[in-house]
Amino acid sequence: MRTVAEHQSVVAKLISPPEPTVLSLEHAAGRVLARDLVAARPLPAFDNSAMDGYAMRAADIAGASATNPVSLPVVEDVPAGRVDGPALYPGTAHRIMTGAPLPAGADTVVQVEATDGGTEIVAIHETREPGQHIRRAGEDVQAGDTVLAAATVLGAAQLGLVAALGEPAVTVVPPLRVLVLSTGSELVEPGQPLVHGQIHESNGVMLATAVRAAGATAEQLHFVADDVDEFLQALHSRLRHVDLVLTSGGVSAGAYEVVKDALAGQGVEFVKVAMQPGMPQGAGLFDGVPVVTLPGNPVSSLVSFEVFVRPALRAAMGFPDVSRPALRATLTEALDSPAGRRQFRRGVLDRGTATVHPIGPPASHFLRWMAASDCLLELPEDVTHLEPGAEVNAWLID
Ligand code: AMP
Ligand code: MG
Repeated sequence: MRTVAEHQSVVAKLISPPEPTVLSLEHAAGRVLARDLVAARPLPAFDNSAMDGYAMRAADIAGASATNPVSLPVVEDVPAGRVDGPALYPGTAHRIMTGAPLPAGADTVVQVEATDGGTEIVAIHETREPGQHIRRAGEDVQAGDTVLAAATVLGAAQLGLVAALGEPAVTVVPPLRVLVLSTGSELVEPGQPLVHGQIHESNGVMLATAVRAAGATAEQLHFVADDVDEFLQALHSRLRHVDLVLTSGGVSAGAYEVVKDALAGQGVEFVKVAMQPGMPQGAGLFDGVPVVTLPGNPVSSLVSFEVFVRPALRAAMGFPDVSRPALRATLTEALDSPAGRRQFRRGVLDRGTATVHPIGPPASHFLRWMAASDCLLELPEDVTHLEPGAEVNAWLID
């Protein structure tokens, strides 16, 4: 049997990083920056007013106070966006708005609240130091500064900065394209009636959602019956358009194991991994394309995705956080775990007390409990029993 760590490394090696690509800012959200972003221009680009008020020379309002205001003629109106840049003559004021360029010759700004708000003549009630309420060119960013390092994840603030620097697009690691293909002759699309012995297909949407949440794109191919020709035909129809194929079902020890029958000896290796749930696994290159074959039981499928596929996808896409955040939490109840296997149980975490309440049985078809959990509890191979109060590793899943 392969260990969890060994199979993690096999899957991780299978998935290569995609070539960096230029994406518009709208499409770059959540992506990883492929190379350092160097500012081509300063921010602010020019000296400008930090206040709505009046631009003037500090020397012209020396000694101004509420009881002894200084009055200056207002000779220009400078709203934000005025670009003709009139200069300021000594002994005059320009009415100026936040973000408007500071007139040459002005060295201070008095906010409107410290004046009578005059439009022809303004009475100033306070003095100012030179430089007050002025945003200097380059005080935030200078041209040539590395403002975002390669491997930064582009969130709201980062994309705002890129746009402020005038860049309409950015070079990022694009999402990997994942094909999700479910197998099983018992499967019926949700919304369609069942006859006894059939079930509604659920791994497709579950895995596609997990793939997208991991930062990749998912194409959910309609599921196929346990028929090798049908399976291979479906696979070949999309193989050239994806970076990874994720199958579910058809890999365990029974007869009619369609995925195993179709791909064994074709570059995909089928193995037993010492874990619960999720013992039967497969991975390899089929026709040059990475394929990971997940077990069909829904909880096994999703847990296997979490353990093997999600970290490999995130690492290949350059995300700094490859693994789920994990913490040590105290069990509220006893747990049993098979010797020699790494067990993953469902849990609900109380973050305040760092205690975790295990929910649902260990078996791999109890999907309801998976849906009710917010963490996976990881019980190492050598653990067979834990008492309440024992510490356990909890992976925070969402
Ligand atoms: P298999 O690995 O194909 O032997 O499937 C194991 C169990 O998972 C069986 O009970 C299947 O019916 C179930 N199963 C397999 N694939 C799916 C699927 N896509 N949606 C829901 N259940 C599935
Ligand atoms: Mg099956």
